[in-house]
Amino acid sequence: MAKVEIEVPECPEYPIIPRLKEGMMAHSKPYIAVEKFQHELGFPGELPENWQEAALDKMQDLLGKYRSFQVYLDSCVKCGACTDKCHYFLGTADPKNMPVARQDLLRKVYRRYFTLAGKYFPKLVGAVDLTKDVLDDWYSYYHQCSQCRRCSVFCPYGIDTAEISMAAREILASVGMGQKYCNEIIGKVFKIGNNLGLPEPALKDTLEGLEEDIFDETNVAVRLPLDEKGADILLITPSADFFAEPHVDGLMGYAKVFHESGVSWTISSYASEGANFGMFIGSYENMRRVAMRIRKAAEDLGVKRIMFGECGHAWRVGYSFLNTLAGPFDFLDPNYPVPQHICEFTYDLIQKDKLVFDKSENDEHVVTFHDSCNVARATRMGPKPGGQFTIPRAILKTVCNNYVDMDADTIHDATFCCGGGGGLLTDDLMEIRVKGAMPRMTALKKIVDEDKVTTLVAICAICKSQFIKTLPYYGMQMYMMHSLHQLVSSALVMQRLTEPADDSESESSDD
Ligand code: SF4
Ligand code: SF4
Repeated sequence: MAKVEIEVPECPEYPIIPRLKEGMMAHSKPYIAVEKFQHELGFPGELPENWQEAALDKMQDLLGKYRSFQVYLDSCVKCGACTDKCHYFLGTADPKNMPVARQDLLRKVYRRYFTLAGKYFPKLVGAVDLTKDVLDDWYSYYHQCSQCRRCSVFCPYGIDTAEISMAAREILASVGMGQKYCNEIIGKVFKIGNNLGLPEPALKDTLEGLEEDIFDETNVAVRLPLDEKGADILLITPSADFFAEPHVDGLMGYAKVFHESGVSWTISSYASEGANFGMFIGSYENMRRVAMRIRKAAEDLGVKRIMFGECGHAWRVGYSFLNTLAGPFDFLDPNYPVPQHICEFTYDLIQKDKLVFDKSENDEHVVTFHDSCNVARATRMGPKPGGQFTIPRAILKTVCNNYVDMDADTIHDATFCCGGGGGLLTDDLMEIRVKGAMPRMTALKKIVDEDKVTTLVAICAICKSQFIKTLPYYGMQMYMMHSLHQLVSSALVMQRLTEPADDSESESSDD
């Protein structure tokens, strides 16, 4: 793979204390969305003449709609606890990538126009006018935030920079400065059903090809059904699962688990995408439109349950907002949560001894798990607190003999983002992606050296794609990246040699 020339930061010892480099990343900006893609999402195609008024109107609108937004802007006491918690700050040393400084880019404008002190004594309270330079700074630095929420874990007031970053991006899009990567993708989901623009015949071919691959490997006819009416489960998964490595190996793993469980399932060609980039651009309306497609697919196919595959932010939107965006889901089986995660499903089968594994099949791997930020800090799994940390690890320890965790201050809710989340997984942002990956790469490199770890596992499509690109920059192999259900798949002993009969009661609902 061709590597872009980037000055890769050293992997230092903890704690990482960068020497400040003012303006270091001011040049980093994603491409702006062209008019066509802006219009499709209901945004203007370019900066209007009255952009300042329009931006402030939008800010007022958001302040009225989201109480948290105003609370976050009002309550920072500049204690500094968040300053060194952002992977982009640690990787770039640019002071504007300190979470509090990132918030201040917007807070200063908020103070100027929406607080009494800022209107009359702007200098005293650090308020500034909204100029084009300020808007450009927003565009740059709010696209150097992956909305990962790590800083908010350490903030004594719980201020969530991710929400401020989403609001800033929505204001930007509303004045014609939407981001090309995200907005183009959302348009494809509306038009074709997935991020890739993969039409139904191509998707059908792909799934049939995967069925053949599984048959060649196992001699068992495992199906990957498409648009099958009356199936029990609608699987919503990131479209990277249909073609990218190692994502696709995870999808084959889900198919084998479904086969062994005996439940019927289907993918929908209408809503084949789990990702919801509406969240990244902070647009409730676009997030809702994407989510409504899932509801329609579930209704049209007459399924009983909705299940999400390995995608971090899809699970965040699914777990935290699906019901608000597209509910109520009273037409689904009330015995199951809406939605469920594929890891919850597999874990439940493991708990009930419904799956047989040969762990030695994974003996070539010494495995570690990367907690994806959206799963770790914005969702949960299973009935117990912390299930989003324990369930994936429990599955891995069931299917692998060799498991090692990274340092405690870099996992669970303190996990470092992969560096490519929040709508930054685009080649025009490669520099910030590589630099932002440094804290995670540092923790990984340590256990590669000390514990001979060979295999990095994640349950997020973005993390997988990001690591494949960034691992070589830090002297590690892209092939060490694995899907969790890829390792499940390797160790799973296929007991059912034929297509399952309709005996879905074999997987019960008490999870
Ligand atoms: S990238 Fe994460 S840690 Fe950095 S400012 Fe954004 S939400 Fe906070
Ligand atoms: S930790 Fe919270 S209160 Fe302290 S500076 Fe950061 S955002 Fe402000």
